[in-house]
Amino acid sequence: MKKTSHILTDSFNRAHTYLRISLIERCNLKCTYCMPEDGIPLSPRNYLMTYEEVYRIAKTFVDHGVTKIRLTGGEPFIRKDIHVILKKLASLGIELSITTNAVLVDKYIGVLKECDIKSINVSLDTLNREKFTQITRRNEFERVYKNMLLLIKEGFKVKINVVLIKGFNEEEVINFIELSKHYPVTVRFIEFMPFNGNKWDLSKLVSYAQIMDMVHAHYSKANIKRIQDAPNDTSKNYKVSDYKGSFSVISSVTNPFCDSCNRIRLTANGKLKNCLFSDGEEDVLTPLRQGKDIEPIIHRNVMSKKKIRNGLETIESFQEQDAHSKNRSMIAIGG
Ligand code: SAM
Ligand code: SF4
Repeated sequence: MKKTSHILTDSFNRAHTYLRISLIERCNLKCTYCMPEDGIPLSPRNYLMTYEEVYRIAKTFVDHGVTKIRLTGGEPFIRKDIHVILKKLASLGIELSITTNAVLVDKYIGVLKECDIKSINVSLDTLNREKFTQITRRNEFERVYKNMLLLIKEGFKVKINVVLIKGFNEEEVINFIELSKHYPVTVRFIEFMPFNGNKWDLSKLVSYAQIMDMVHAHYSKANIKRIQDAPNDTSKNYKVSDYKGSFSVISSVTNPFCDSCNRIRLTANGKLKNCLFSDGEEDVLTPLRQGKDIEPIIHRNVMSKKKIRNGLETIESFQEQDAHSKNRSMIAIGG
């Protein structure tokens, strides 16, 4: 196995082997928790990475030890050159995966298989058609649900991302877990996180502890098994006995997993973000276009990574609006 070179190891000795690349800032859904009501100011088209630039930057990371790349967005499948990007990145011999809202995914089953993509994360926050329209501001529930089932049928390992918001969908926790009875999916409950313009406040958070209270109120303790977390796993994983699938909780707010963080993010306009919560970014696209060496820039960005959530060490620190309101909206980071 290739060793991670020093440029991807931070001052807390965390080796960064997982690169998440956002391919586009636009989306065909408009989820309220992700995108501000009036949208976001989009980068001019020539500020976005071309497929060649995505490949060149990704290759630099792979040459220094990255073994896994996830494509995200905005919605990655609305990029016209997504086929080319998938094929070029697949040629790097890394584990390649993608996070999607699944609206268009049925058109890409062939290329996903050709690129040996095994695991796909699908975002779906409710099993109720009207609520889906309310949260995504678009009427696409049937298409998304059908496409999620299609991915399962086609043999992909499907993880369903569910952002829980108090008063909106927390009552669906058990219905989502019941999906794992019949289908080999992993349902991942994600704590609602604050970003610029998403009207976050602590009272809307459904915490890991509250989710587990709902689980234990419904299933007997003996029926819920804790599954061993994989190294660098961000989720706490569980299974209901005899169910085909599993469920997990991503507790970025109440229970951060920064100690073992191996992630680094590249935004669609070519900026490095060393943490989901960091407001500072490092431009690699402009220097790449100027023919400069981007390795020292990558190293500087990795070295400036803070120990915990860009300094948001406690749950109380989230109450300070200023602490997170300067961060980009999630739509422009990519999750
Ligand atoms: N469009 C794709 C999708 O929805 O899967 C990829 C981009 S989306 C930004 C990536 C993930 O971020 C989604 O699973 C979404 O639910 C999650 N996300 C967006 N805003 C969030 C927030 N405020 N808190 C927690 N997760 C969020
Ligand atoms: Fe689009 Fe995904 Fe954000 Fe929803 S969560 S608006 S689908 S990028």
